[in-house]
Amino acid sequence: MHKNLVEKMEKLKNISNNSSLNKIFNKNGKIGIITSGSAFNYVMDVINENQLEISVLKITLSYPFPDQLVLNFIKDLETIIIEEVDPIMEKEVLSIIGQNQLKKNIHGKLDGTLPMIYEYSPNIILNALNKVTDTNLDIYDANMSEIKIPERQPTLCPGCPHRAAYYSVNKAVSELNLKNVIYPTDIGCYTLGVASPYNSADYLLSMGSSIGTSCGFSKATDQNVISFIGDSTFFHAGIPPLINAVHNKNRFVLVILDNRTTAMTGGQPHPGLSTDGMGWEAPEISIEEIVKATGVKFLRLINPLNIKKSQQTFKEALEFNGVAVVISRYPCMFIKRKREGNLSLEVKQNKCNSCAKCITELACTAIYIDKEGLTHIDPQLCNKCNVCVQICSEKAIGIKNSFNR
Ligand code: SF4
Ligand code: SF4
Repeated sequence: MHKNLVEKMEKLKNISNNSSLNKIFNKNGKIGIITSGSAFNYVMDVINENQLEISVLKITLSYPFPDQLVLNFIKDLETIIIEEVDPIMEKEVLSIIGQNQLKKNIHGKLDGTLPMIYEYSPNIILNALNKVTDTNLDIYDANMSEIKIPERQPTLCPGCPHRAAYYSVNKAVSELNLKNVIYPTDIGCYTLGVASPYNSADYLLSMGSSIGTSCGFSKATDQNVISFIGDSTFFHAGIPPLINAVHNKNRFVLVILDNRTTAMTGGQPHPGLSTDGMGWEAPEISIEEIVKATGVKFLRLINPLNIKKSQQTFKEALEFNGVAVVISRYPCMFIKRKREGNLSLEVKQNKCNSCAKCITELACTAIYIDKEGLTHIDPQLCNKCNVCVQICSEKAIGIKNSFNR
């Protein structure tokens, strides 16, 4: 098939060279920029705001590289390649220059005009232009806005079922008095378990690696290992390492955080749902049946919003001598919004003792302390998951029915 492949690539190169996806903007000036992806936005912001005469070739269909289009573009220009991560396009352009025996300077990451690391920003583009063109364009002042927005780390949504699962895992670990637990994690919203107060994500390597590396730790150390993977990632890359885990007699807890979607990337379906990627009805593949088929002897399904039951289950899983799988199943709040209806959650000020456990241990972002030091729930943010009601030892959080009077 090699011959066919080479012929196909030639045809594709022709498409790439003539594709409307590869587009030239602002054909003027002596400087040309070849760019792609989000770096294009920074380039256009800088050009428009400084009214610069610079030609821009935005490459969207980048493989096979549109060599003829690029050759025509760079012919009469001093060219800068502005691309994030690795100098892939830059090397392609250098190869075109070599093949065509042109004498041209190409600026980019390889000659140090642009940094090898970091996401780009308008200031990085401005610096590059200043270096190449001997201009003195003003660098933006990060403090020029008078509005000071408080910094906040990325966090799980109010009412997110993963928060409840992490809360219960933390409680189970503390009640069993376990020290030095290792928490491998995987890729998804639940990676935010890395943040305080959960501290339940020690490292993240690649999809499915939470289970694979748990196998290694379970063999190499006596430490307890609690591994996390999402439903979508489990289907994608979690099954082979689970088979290995059982076959090699490892001992760790695997929590499959099943929120019935691929939440982090926008809610795409996965094989565990009854709808396929095109929106058609499709057979739903059962995570439980897959786990059972691998030979796992400890398998439990929990609703993470039921805190007491979840904590008990995690404790039993941690005491099991083998691979213990807990499927923590509750839909992402973006799917199962509970804001509608007449119910609202409120802190009863006469019962609240301001212990702040609902903030320091649960850390739901719908709960806040006002200037007087009183705890409240923001009805605009609360998704009514009911978890704070269960963890407040003073029974100070209640569900309130609002009536139309
Ligand atoms: S019920 Fe409590 S924990 Fe759940 S979203 Fe509302 S404030 Fe947060
Ligand atoms: S956990 Fe209960 S008592 Fe403590 S601050 Fe929150 S609402 Fe008040």
